[in-house]
Amino acid sequence: MGKTVKKNFSAINDISFLSGGGEMGELMRSKNWSETLIGETKYWPQSLKTSLSILLHSKFPKFLFWGPDHVCFYNDAYRPSLGKEGKHPNILGSRGEDYWVEIWDIIKPLIDQVLGGGEATWSEDQLIPIYRNGSVENVYWTFSYSPVFDESGSVAGVWVTCMETTQKVMTLNALEDSKNQLHFAIESANLATWDYHPELKTFRGNERLRNWYNLKKTEITPLEALDVIADKDQNRVKEAVKNAMDYEKGGMFDITYQLNPVKVKKERIVRAIGKVWFNADKSLSRFNGIVQDITEQFNATKENQMLSTIVDKSNEFIGLAGLDSRVKYINPAGMKMLGWKNIKDRKIEDCIYPEDLSKALSLTAKLFEQDQVSDEFRLLNEQSGEPFWIKWNGLAIRDEKTNQLIALATTSPNITEQKKSELRIHEGISKLEESEKRFRKVADSSPVLIKMTDSEAKITFVNKMWLDFTGHPLKRYLGLDTLMEIHPDDMQITRSQYDKVFESHKEYRAEYRIRAHDGAFRWISNIGVPRFTEDGKFEGYIHACMDIHDMKTQEHQKDLFIGMASHELKTPVTSIKGYTQVLKRKYGDSGDKLLISSLDIVDKQIRVLTKLISDLLDLSKMKTGGLDFTKETFNLNELLTEVIRESEFVNPSHRIEYKNIQSINVYADKERIRQVAVNLLNNAVKYSPQSKKIEVKSIFNDKTASVFIEDFGIGINKENQENIFNRFFREEGKNEETFPGFGIGLYISADIIKRHDGVISVKSEKGKGSIFHFTIPIQKPN
Ligand code: ADP
Repeated sequence: MGKTVKKNFSAINDISFLSGGGEMGELMRSKNWSETLIGETKYWPQSLKTSLSILLHSKFPKFLFWGPDHVCFYNDAYRPSLGKEGKHPNILGSRGEDYWVEIWDIIKPLIDQVLGGGEATWSEDQLIPIYRNGSVENVYWTFSYSPVFDESGSVAGVWVTCMETTQKVMTLNALEDSKNQLHFAIESANLATWDYHPELKTFRGNERLRNWYNLKKTEITPLEALDVIADKDQNRVKEAVKNAMDYEKGGMFDITYQLNPVKVKKERIVRAIGKVWFNADKSLSRFNGIVQDITEQFNATKENQMLSTIVDKSNEFIGLAGLDSRVKYINPAGMKMLGWKNIKDRKIEDCIYPEDLSKALSLTAKLFEQDQVSDEFRLLNEQSGEPFWIKWNGLAIRDEKTNQLIALATTSPNITEQKKSELRIHEGISKLEESEKRFRKVADSSPVLIKMTDSEAKITFVNKMWLDFTGHPLKRYLGLDTLMEIHPDDMQITRSQYDKVFESHKEYRAEYRIRAHDGAFRWISNIGVPRFTEDGKFEGYIHACMDIHDMKTQEHQKDLFIGMASHELKTPVTSIKGYTQVLKRKYGDSGDKLLISSLDIVDKQIRVLTKLISDLLDLSKMKTGGLDFTKETFNLNELLTEVIRESEFVNPSHRIEYKNIQSINVYADKERIRQVAVNLLNNAVKYSPQSKKIEVKSIFNDKTASVFIEDFGIGINKENQENIFNRFFREEGKNEETFPGFGIGLYISADIIKRHDGVISVKSEKGKGSIFHFTIPIQKPN
């Protein structure tokens, strides 16, 4: 192909077709076309002129490639797409290939397609980067290449009708970006989304929402939506929806509720946040939002609430402070202990009792190196000014991730009461130690042998006197059995007596011999008193022993003497008694009153003397080997009747009444039982000078016979009633001399009854009289 225009057309230099057309019209008119590929305008074919006329007057961006050189033309509307610095204005009338270097390989095929008679092209939002504004820019176009036919009907040029869509594409891209970002945000925040369609009255949710709410359908009705909410929360949700849809209230929706556990696969607590969008006429446009699964967070909050309730209700001192010692929290119990109203501007040291400050602070400092520190010190109650003790458990609070120390905490029980009781116990122990020391001192300086045993009868203490007495060191005794060093002859009886008493924790009394420091055995009398704790627990015995060896020896000599003297006295007294009887018989009827009354007195005194001598003899026998018994079967009633008759004869002053006379045979020593009856009857007479009545009663059953002798005389004090059966015991009082005696009659009587396996006892009231009673078995034992 030759020159683009000149050859084919006749020259008509008329440029009216270039009239108007703004800047580009001006440019085209003033351009020296003869210097261009297309040559002077007068050679331009009509088809080109017409095309340019249309181009210049179009408000739509247009570009024209003309001829085989693709000479470029464009209008004002196209002009901005070329930018400020670059192709414009030189591209006008130039070869397309020269100015569209950067995109020539893209557009050349399109141009060729159209020039070659092909279809017009259509490209939408295509990226065609061009050089403009000093650099290559990414520019998007929607454009069409269409043919321009010349006068010969061949395609001579290519219309480019185009629109730069860079802005639109950019906006769309930005929209897509933000959509993606939103999607990403929703996905990564694990959110479900929902959308309410006001006209259709349907809900839609994303896949996650459908999964959580267990929805089978993509769209559900408001009723179906409500059904997935737990019953208890439905009303609240309805109310919140109503509020959100109220234009005046701003359209915000934010509510937490539980999914209906019956309807969903997994129980969830969710937070739904949404917004209602309104139309200009305030009608509903859209209502949409997101749903967050806050189950874990909700449960954690609940757990936290429970934990803080524990902390609030705890009666321990619970506190938290910063590393700068500033108090951040103290629970109500702690505040009460401190007597504080608030914690504003308080520091750890404000809590501490001044005397314990340095100790407490050095403990707190340890928390910078170790996780836990425990000790006891005092805090101060600000209101009362009183200290109180706490068992301080200091805790170092560290950051979970970095493990860095971030705070100091404490959970400390108030141990004031415990401290007080410890103090009391401590004081008690020192007092106890003090009194123990005193006791040992007193015990050591005591002239009595003292021994203490524990609850297992093991020796825990013996005093100095004991050690001196036995000549052994203390260590020999400690932990040993209490009955040691005892004479072999006394061991058996002592052991059985002791064991009996020990079991019942009663008072213990005994006399036995123990080996003294010189190896000889000496008699001691032992009184053991049981010890009990305040709450009644048996702790053992404290024994006080007296050396009674000398007394025992003298007593033995006395017994020997009594035995011997009574024996020696018996013969002369029997002979005096005999002669008195002879004299009474011979001179009883003589009428010599003085002689007769003198003989009566002598006879009475002889009876008393005889009784005394026989009692003393019995006593002596009891001491040396016991009384002899010759048992036989005899009639007890007859015996009692005899004794009563005799007594009435001797004591005509008293009337003796014998009740319940019933014949019974007993197997016993008749004379000894008589001795007992006589003794009791004589005492009844002797100790009832004012009252003249005495009652005797006998009762029997299959096994035993009991005799009661009752007088209405002076009676016996309660505290002496057990002792009157002891040897030489007599009730002391102003009547002592009125009622002569030695206090051995009942002792012998008791021995006789006991040796018949019987029982003797007394019931008496001072000033009212006494009932003596004895019971013996009827039958001979098998
Ligand atoms: P005694 O020779 O002193 O009477 P007993 O052994 O017979 O000696 O009695 C001991 C003591 O018991 C008496 O001294 C007396 O105090 C008291 N006693 C005995 N029988 C009676 C009684 N029936 N009434 C009051 N006291 C009595």
